[in-house]
Amino acid sequence: NSARTAETLPAAATTGRPIPAVLGADLEVPVKGGRLVGYANLDYAASAPCLEPVNAAVAAALPAYSSVHRGAGYASQLTTARYEQARHTIRAFVGARPDDAVIFTRNTTDATNLLAGCLPAGTTAVVFDTEHHASLLPWQHSVRLAPPAFPGEAVRAADEALAGIDGPKLLVVTAASNVTGELWPIAALAHIAHRHGARILVDAAQLVPHRRVNLTALDLDYVAFSGHKLYAPFGAGVLIGRRDWLAEGEPYLKGGGAVRAVGESTEWHDDPEPRHEAGTPNVLGAIALAAACDALTATGWTELVREEERLIARLRAGLASVEGVRELSLWGDDHPRVGIVSFTVAGYSAREVAEVLSGEYGIGVRDGKFCAHPFVQHLLGTRDGGCEDDTASAVRASIGIGSTQEHVDRLIEAVRDLVSR
Ligand code: PLP
Repeated sequence: NSARTAETLPAAATTGRPIPAVLGADLEVPVKGGRLVGYANLDYAASAPCLEPVNAAVAAALPAYSSVHRGAGYASQLTTARYEQARHTIRAFVGARPDDAVIFTRNTTDATNLLAGCLPAGTTAVVFDTEHHASLLPWQHSVRLAPPAFPGEAVRAADEALAGIDGPKLLVVTAASNVTGELWPIAALAHIAHRHGARILVDAAQLVPHRRVNLTALDLDYVAFSGHKLYAPFGAGVLIGRRDWLAEGEPYLKGGGAVRAVGESTEWHDDPEPRHEAGTPNVLGAIALAAACDALTATGWTELVREEERLIARLRAGLASVEGVRELSLWGDDHPRVGIVSFTVAGYSAREVAEVLSGEYGIGVRDGKFCAHPFVQHLLGTRDGGCEDDTASAVRASIGIGSTQEHVDRLIEAVRDLVSR
């Protein structure tokens, strides 16, 4: 009968495969009084839990792994094929151009630093003060732009700054803020950058877990992101983009694999992938990252985005209904954002809130300045008192696959309880 058929169909049968499960969904944690409660992980923007298909892909690769690109043995050949397939999968995941380099790194920070080491001499980076430190700090010469009051202002400020710079230039911008979740106008910024003969690097660490990215359609020169925010374990990230600067830049690490010939002089590989991947790479990390990309693609973004938007809207409305809670936002309530919300609670430091949420309610959030000191100070109207300055900090809740309405409601009610004490 039709009711039974509907019940047994996978949840997302019309849009793709069902949303995959995450590991640790049944984790229980101790709270005050020694009780165990189900863990409400609301800290996805720091590191997201591992997807089941990622776990399966790593488990499948473990029994026969060996060093890549070097051995004639079966395990080495198989591992090399899996590693290169991972590169191919990630290239397709972000819609990269066929001739773009896809370089495996340790994480986003590693990727931005790698690119920083490959900029042509005299390059000036143009960076907004809203960036995560990974994108704010690696540049030898940079022009820093104040947080723009609205998206159009970001484009205007970049336009003005780039017009005033001679020589090679790189615009660096986040796609989705790790503080407010707000989406940046990256297509318009890419257009402006190119009009001034500049290139653009997009820090997509917080975008790729939440939205489909197409590097070719957006006309981005470089993107960087981390596996551990994309439902894969720690230790693998990528830098993707135009080959020429990467082919000419100093090899990121010097050692085996990056080199073609070593005699009296050293002949480095011109191809960016071997050139910047010296040493034995994190093959399992690359396989895990690619498996996460495959799993998200197979599910389809419509379903993922719909569920995330439902939960984040509920969370924001719930927090807004609690007296003394203030959400941090650069561009206002209605600006589109991913599943991240940062807030302060009047009368409590961010650390106090985070400790109560964890110790009494089994909720994991992040507190602090989120490696974005200038931006958080701007939003709070404070000066930098350093990492330990708890008065200039906020609480961040972030969601993704595996987040539930119960987790969201528990956070809202816990904050309400705290405020009413
Ligand atoms: N960029 C953004 C927007 C981030 O949120 C983060 C991590 O928090 C990073 C860069 C740095 O990522 P990783 O620590 O994996 O290098």
